[in-house]
Amino acid sequence: MNKIFFLGECMIELRRTDKTNMRQSFAGDVFNSAVYLKRCFNKVSCAMVTALGEDKLSTEMVEAFEQAGLDTGLVFRHPHKNAGLYAIETDDKGERSFTYWRSDSAARTLARFLDKKVLSAFKAGDLLFFSGISLAVIAPQDREVFWQKLSALKDAGAVLVFDPNYRARMWQSTDEAKYAFDKAFSMAQIALPGVEDLSALYGINDARGVIEYCQSHDIKEVVVKDGPNSVLSLSQGHIEHHTIVPNQNVVDTTSAGDAFNGVYLGARMNDLDIDKSIALAAKAASIVIQHSGAIAPKEAFTDGMSP
Ligand code: ADP
Repeated sequence: MNKIFFLGECMIELRRTDKTNMRQSFAGDVFNSAVYLKRCFNKVSCAMVTALGEDKLSTEMVEAFEQAGLDTGLVFRHPHKNAGLYAIETDDKGERSFTYWRSDSAARTLARFLDKKVLSAFKAGDLLFFSGISLAVIAPQDREVFWQKLSALKDAGAVLVFDPNYRARMWQSTDEAKYAFDKAFSMAQIALPGVEDLSALYGINDARGVIEYCQSHDIKEVVVKDGPNSVLSLSQGHIEHHTIVPNQNVVDTTSAGDAFNGVYLGARMNDLDIDKSIALAAKAASIVIQHSGAIAPKEAFTDGMSP
C-alpha cells in the first residue's frame, strides 16, 4: 500500500481551563487529519512533513507525532525558530476566540527544507496532502520554491491532494490567496474543498458551483463538503450526491473537515469506493463535532469506525 505525507504546520494549543490555568496540547489541520486517518486505518503509513524548532515543546510535539503513529523522518528542526502557538478562550456566552503566535514560526521556513531527502522519501503513487493553511504558512518569498518542489514531487509520481481551508486572516489580500489556490487546484489530482472556502474568494455559494470551478482544472477526484448538507463528488465526469445526516448534538465543529479528509483518504487508500469512503468520513466528522477541541478522545472512535 502507498504512504501518505501530511505537509503543513502543527501548533502548540493552549486552552483555558480556569482563570489561571491552561491545558496544553498540539493541533493543526494536517496533523488532525493524520491522527484521524490513523485511528480508523491503523495500517496506513502516514508521515508528517513540517518544520519545528529545537525547543522542548517542539521535541514534545515530535513525540506526540510518534505517539499518534506518524513517521517523523521529514520533521525538520530549525536552529533558531520555534513551534507556532495559539490560545483558545471561551467567553461567558460560550463564544470561542483564537489568538495566534505563528508569524515567525519554524514552519514558515518549511519550503527551504524540501530537498532531495524529501524527494527520495516518495514512491510513485504516494499521496501528499496539503491545505490552504499549509500554503499561507509558507513565507511568501518561499512560495515559488515551494511550487517547484511540489512540481518535482508530482513528476516523480506523487499524488497531490489539496483542501483550500481558507482562513482570510492568514493572507495579505484575496488576490494573494487566489493566486496560490488557483495554482494548487491546477496541480492537485484530488481536491477536498468546502463550499465556505470558495464563497469568500470566488463568490461560489453552493457545492455544484465548487464542482464546476474544479471542472475547469484537471482534477481526477473532487469531494465537496458543506457542513450538515449533502456532500457532492466528481469522478470521471460523474457527479454524485451523498446524504449527510445532520447531527443534533453539535458541541464544537473544530476539525470536522480535518477528520473528514483524513478518514476519506485512508478509506480510498484501502480501495474503498468514493461513496463508502464519504460515508465513513462523514461518520468520523460527526463523532468529532460531538466533542470539544480538535482531537476527540480515542474512545469515541472504537465502535463501527472500521470499514
Ligand atoms: P470544515 O470543518 O472544513 O468547515 P464542514 O463544516 O464543511 O468542514 O464539515 C465537514 C464535514 O463534517 C461535513 O461534510 C459533514 O460530513 C460533517 N459535518 C459538519 N457539520 C455537521 C453537522 N452539523 N451534522 C453532521 N455532520 C456534519
